[in-house]
Amino acid sequence: MSVDENGFTEDAFPVQDHMVEAFTADDLTEEGARRRDAADPGHRDLFHVPPADGGRYAEVAYLAGNSLGLQPKATGPDLLEDLAEWARLGVEGHFEARRPWVSYPELLTENTARLVGALPEEVVVMNTLTVNLHLLLVSFYRPRGERNRIVIEDTAFPSDSYAVRSQARFHGLDPDEAVVRLRPRPGEDTLRTEDIVDYLAREGDRVALVLLGGVNYLTGELMDIPAITEAGRAAGAMVGWDLAHAAGNVPLRLHDWGVNFAAWCNYKYLNSGPGAIAGAFVHSRHLDDPTIQRFEGWWGNDPATRFEMTPVHRPLARADAWQLSTPPTYAMAPIRTSLGIFAQVGMPALRARSERLTGYLERLLDLVTAGRPITVITPRDPRRRGCQLSLRLDSGSAGALAKRLRHEHGVITDAREPNILRAAPTPLYSTYHDCWRFADALTHLVEETP
Ligand SMILES: *Cc1c(COP(=O)(O)O)cnc(C)c1O
Repeated sequence: MSVDENGFTEDAFPVQDHMVEAFTADDLTEEGARRRDAADPGHRDLFHVPPADGGRYAEVAYLAGNSLGLQPKATGPDLLEDLAEWARLGVEGHFEARRPWVSYPELLTENTARLVGALPEEVVVMNTLTVNLHLLLVSFYRPRGERNRIVIEDTAFPSDSYAVRSQARFHGLDPDEAVVRLRPRPGEDTLRTEDIVDYLAREGDRVALVLLGGVNYLTGELMDIPAITEAGRAAGAMVGWDLAHAAGNVPLRLHDWGVNFAAWCNYKYLNSGPGAIAGAFVHSRHLDDPTIQRFEGWWGNDPATRFEMTPVHRPLARADAWQLSTPPTYAMAPIRTSLGIFAQVGMPALRARSERLTGYLERLLDLVTAGRPITVITPRDPRRRGCQLSLRLDSGSAGALAKRLRHEHGVITDAREPNILRAAPTPLYSTYHDCWRFADALTHLVEETP
């Protein structure tokens, strides 16, 4: 079976073909930004944009959708509709609610599968991201003798680092030896695909698992997921991806790329609210593998026999088998609303606008950073990044700068101390004018190098 039956075509995601837009000097003025917005509008009207608490504009310039997405206006009304069913039906709502609670996760399956390029049976929405990483590591990190290493990136999100280190310890291994942290070449800020592929070719027989961020949370680098997956699997390792910063940001084809497993959260680009229930992917080749280890709970049982309350687990050959507990309906409702927006707009259109918007921000930042102690460390090639650009400050604190951006200019960014400032114009609701405001604020807040 191919993903194409699920609505994809090979050229739905023109990942190879990139038009890098030229912007004129006129485009880079405030009026120019407004003209661009009129010509290339997003879907800002579908979202609540917070009011600014500083600066001269009513709304914030929100560039932190990589950290927490904005709330769709439909989320509240949709959630209230589901809540009313509990009031109306009590326990009968499990089966009789207009969206029955027992099968609520299934309402998220198809749109989730489309978003990550998976077959419906390969995805499930459950738990939170770090919990899913652990559950998947139980299944896919199976150290044997010398083949016991876990490869991550040195700039892995701390939770991922803690997860793999604790998994190594759980298997009786020393995490300082079992966990290999990939570092960029000296003087470089991001990893090179060829170096990772090279490492896997040289040391691959000692590697049990590769677990990398699809888009690195700190640098904004988009990894070459198909090439690294292929190299890892060729070396005999399992390859998993943390897609927290990739899902809803860049096009993904997890099934076709042969990824073994993946996990992501729904609260960053996927706009489903703080701590929203997370996603997980298990490739179809593992779904009916009787040798796979899995921690089990009653919700992973075949729904047809779940309520027979038998002592032995009888799962279907679906990622659903990894579910443990009764799904939290009211934490899932905002995901249903949000995925509906992604399905309506479509990832190809979002990615196209994303490249234009981030290209515009990059052009503005070129002007700002020339002569100031700031450097954009995210790759310049649009194929190697999503919408986030990360800036490194050569002096001063990123946190202090983010505070001033917010309180003096109404610009919301995200600081990772000591010196990284992240700005992500998300294609659903960010505007060219938001980008202009950020760049303009930086020219006021960061002094030129004497
Ligand atoms: C945001 C993020 C997390 C957060 O994990 P939670 O379990 O949702 O708190 C983990 N890993 C990466 C790579 C992230 O970007």
